Amino acid sequence: MENTEKMYDVIIPGGGLAGLTLSIQLKREKPDISILVLESMDSAAPAAAHKVGESTVELATYYMREVLDLKGYLEEHELPKHGLRFFFKTNNKGEISNRVELGPRLKLPVPSHQLDRGTLENYLATHTQTLGTELIRGARAKDVQISADGHQLTYSKDGEDIIVKGKWIADATGRGSLLKRKLKFAKPMEHHSNAVWWRLKGEIDVDDWSDNIKWKSHLDPKLRYLSTVHFMDKGYWVWIIPLGSKNTSIGIVADPAVHPFEEINTYEKSLAWLEKNEPLCYKMLKPRGEGDGLLDFRVLKHYAHESGQLYSADRWGVVGESGAFLDPLYSPGSDFISLANTWMTDLILRDLSGEDIALRASVYEKSHQSHIENWIPIYQNKYLLMGNTQTMVVKIFWDWAIYWSVPCLLFTNKGFVNLKVAKELFASPTAIGSRFGELNKRVQQMFLEWQQYDTEIFTDRYIDPFDVPFMREWQQGLEKQYSPKELIEKVTSNLASLEKFAAALYRLMSAQAFGTPMDLMVNPYSICPEAGKGLTAETTGPDAIGPDEEMDKQVRIIWFYKIKEELAIS
Ligand SMILES: Cc1cc2nc3c(=O)[nH]c(=O)nc-3n(C[C@H](O)[C@H](O)[C@H](O)COP(=O)(O)OP(=O)(O)OC[C@H]3O[C@@H](n4cnc5c(N)ncnc54)[C@H](O)[C@@H]3O)c2cc1C
Repeated sequence: MENTEKMYDVIIPGGGLAGLTLSIQLKREKPDISILVLESMDSAAPAAAHKVGESTVELATYYMREVLDLKGYLEEHELPKHGLRFFFKTNNKGEISNRVELGPRLKLPVPSHQLDRGTLENYLATHTQTLGTELIRGARAKDVQISADGHQLTYSKDGEDIIVKGKWIADATGRGSLLKRKLKFAKPMEHHSNAVWWRLKGEIDVDDWSDNIKWKSHLDPKLRYLSTVHFMDKGYWVWIIPLGSKNTSIGIVADPAVHPFEEINTYEKSLAWLEKNEPLCYKMLKPRGEGDGLLDFRVLKHYAHESGQLYSADRWGVVGESGAFLDPLYSPGSDFISLANTWMTDLILRDLSGEDIALRASVYEKSHQSHIENWIPIYQNKYLLMGNTQTMVVKIFWDWAIYWSVPCLLFTNKGFVNLKVAKELFASPTAIGSRFGELNKRVQQMFLEWQQYDTEIFTDRYIDPFDVPFMREWQQGLEKQYSPKELIEKVTSNLASLEKFAAALYRLMSAQAFGTPMDLMVNPYSICPEAGKGLTAETTGPDAIGPDEEMDKQVRIIWFYKIKEELAIS
């Protein structure tokens, strides 16, 4: 059956987080835009036992609260999040209080949320319909014909095939990847980790897992509960996330090189795996899954994938997991949705107003692909470092630093949809964005090369990311508004600080590994240029940086090893 009467401005197959938020963003910008969302699920989502993607970080939080104006809903129906919290390797995993713990102490000024995906998606579906979006449930998109005169999409509902027409198609079918399969632009990714997860009835607060008064006193009661809690050791991390529906999400994410998928791919096997690798989690979580306590159990093998294309001037694009998904560590999934939706919205609205979007489509494609490429080294091969506490502590600080200092700032300042800013950032191999990506690559390789020297198992330490002043300044300055010129200056100055941070880390690692002096000059772009060739860097030449008293002092806060040179003096 053909519904020929209507040409929608936009058809969005897939009514999950990406599709629904895109429709809301478009409607907020252009209330009279006609949008059809097709969702294959035929009823509203259940609470808790729905999807993963339950934790937001700063970029997506800004998108949801400020760009989509969901602040009121989030504050009333979802939980405030108290940052990311990590518990590292220890020889006594039966006692949580002796593990090195990394996480914020005090209530955070910059918000983020823990989301119950069922509750959220049901709200988003109702909200977008209120704004005028047509949403059809039980509608499975089957095929798309791309055409300059309007694309044709065929979907099935109640056993019948229906054809609809739209000027734009924004694919939001998640792993269904409608367009990627049709137009054959799938791009596999060399990152093979797997995930399993389940939801348990009721609240679980790791603060109740120890009677150690000193440990408890690090934070006010209930703040640990509101964090995304990670237990980490070689090759894996385990998450505990509280949900607004007063249930709890648990997950295991593991590199199969260390923890084969076959050891975790059923609930019973996951429990046995926990008993061996995280015995306290096993002891505390197993009883909660008995009776009707276990709400669901899901697995996802090899979750990472890239995408050969993301946007086309031929009026189509992919958003959310139908595009790329790298890794759930640090909860970046909804950040990628926020970015893609923002690029997509800009292209659609400019095109509908008659503007030629060819240049923008190509710039947004390059910018997004370059963002993905810059982020891959954060995850690739890094699960092997998860049993090295010092390496992981400095890595997590570095990963936060690069996230807050550049992409978050660009997003809150609309820098990603400003052609002048994009040109400055990504137009040439020496542009700021390209140097940023190269610097991150060098530092991520340094973590791998240094691992062999990081042999100590540390215990009984509490580190707060905001004990380091420049980290606090970057996180709390995220929403500050700059003119395009000031934004480029700010990103340039942040990159200069990141260079100093990289050099300071190299200096410490090299001193610990080889006893080199603490006034070593370091060219941050020359660190570990080749995989497997050891911890090396150029220490002469015009780009080498000397010690910076302020940066070095701050980096020492997250450095646990005694410095050999100083030991010799004392
Ligand atoms: C282990 C793991 C943990 C994660 N944790 C986090 C986290 O803490 N924070 C975070 O931000 N992100 C996280 N993510 C990522 C997050 O889950 C995804 O980014 C997000 O769910 C993707 O949303 P989406 O709308 O693209 O896809 P989905 O939510 O899967 O939505 C796609 C929708 O399309 C529908 N559909 C599929 N095919 C069709 C079709 N042919 N026709 C019509 N409808 C169709 C589906 O029913 C579905 O509702 C995690 C991912 C993994 C794998």
